[in-house]
Amino acid sequence: MCADTFRTPQLLFASGIRPPALGRYLNEHAFLTGRVLLDLERFGLTRADLPPVRGGEFATDSLWLPQNGAEQPFHGQIMNTTYVDDGGAALAHSVGLSLYTPVESRAENRVVFRDDDLDLTGMPRFSIEFSYSDADLALVEAARVEMARVAAAFGAFDPDTESALLLPGSSLHQTGTVRLGPVDDGTSVCDPDGRVWDFDNLFVAGNGVIPTAVVANTTLTGAVTAVRAARAARRVVAGAAAAPLV
Ligand SMILES: Cc1cc2nc3c(=O)[nH]c(=O)nc-3n(C[C@H](O)[C@H](O)[C@H](O)COP(=O)(O)OP(=O)(O)OC[C@H]3O[C@@H](n4cnc5c(N)ncnc54)[C@H](O)[C@@H]3O)c2cc1C
Repeated sequence: MCADTFRTPQLLFASGIRPPALGRYLNEHAFLTGRVLLDLERFGLTRADLPPVRGGEFATDSLWLPQNGAEQPFHGQIMNTTYVDDGGAALAHSVGLSLYTPVESRAENRVVFRDDDLDLTGMPRFSIEFSYSDADLALVEAARVEMARVAAAFGAFDPDTESALLLPGSSLHQTGTVRLGPVDDGTSVCDPDGRVWDFDNLFVAGNGVIPTAVVANTTLTGAVTAVRAARAARRVVAGAAAAPLV
């Protein structure tokens, strides 16, 4: 099963498969976004120096500053855009700064499924319970300070009007609701291959399986869980084919 971070646990719940960790440990990095106009004079530039935008060209580049533990706790995404007038002449250059900050994986952050109410597709209706811990909020504040410091290097920056902490859910990088674990101790739904505890032939994959806080775009990590589950499922099928018929 690989039906996304919310629908995979929903399908398990609807199927009566409800291990204690199901829907829990919902994780999503916090998302602080901002931008600053490049102070051209400070860099000895004029508008004529800004890169021209050709017709049909996507005029935004994207650079990553990968998160690296305590040394570099934030994932930086830097997206630059040259604003142009109708004739294509450069007006200004915007330096876009986003900092993703890690959020603790906590059981109380969760998807809550209901037995007594169905959604439009006939599946158990769900709601979300999610909040930031004190440690999460402290990191967000540290990110604000870091963003202001970096932005000030490029130009005049007003954090009140030129940055915002996006609402939870905005990143589209939710994980953890069918998380894997090394042992069946109630804090995971499946083993490292995605095999649901107490089953031989039921595998889950996708972002919901990721057990730890991802501080980046999640798809590559989610895809790894799918490859592992597919290989494990293939071993089950091969084993069944090799087994003698009785
Ligand atoms: C606008 C947007 C931009 C994004 N940009 C990026 C990006 O730049 N980089 C990045 O890393 N990530 C990005 N993401 C996030 C990315 O989409 C997810 O990380 C990834 O798709 C998650 O994979 P998944 O397999 O867990 O779920 P999904 O890709 O959502 O796959 C789940 C599948 O299950 C199906 N399904 C659901 N319920 C059922 C059911 N009951 N029965 C059968 N099938 C079902 C769905 O139709 C869907 O096809 C973006 C997301 C959005 C919405």
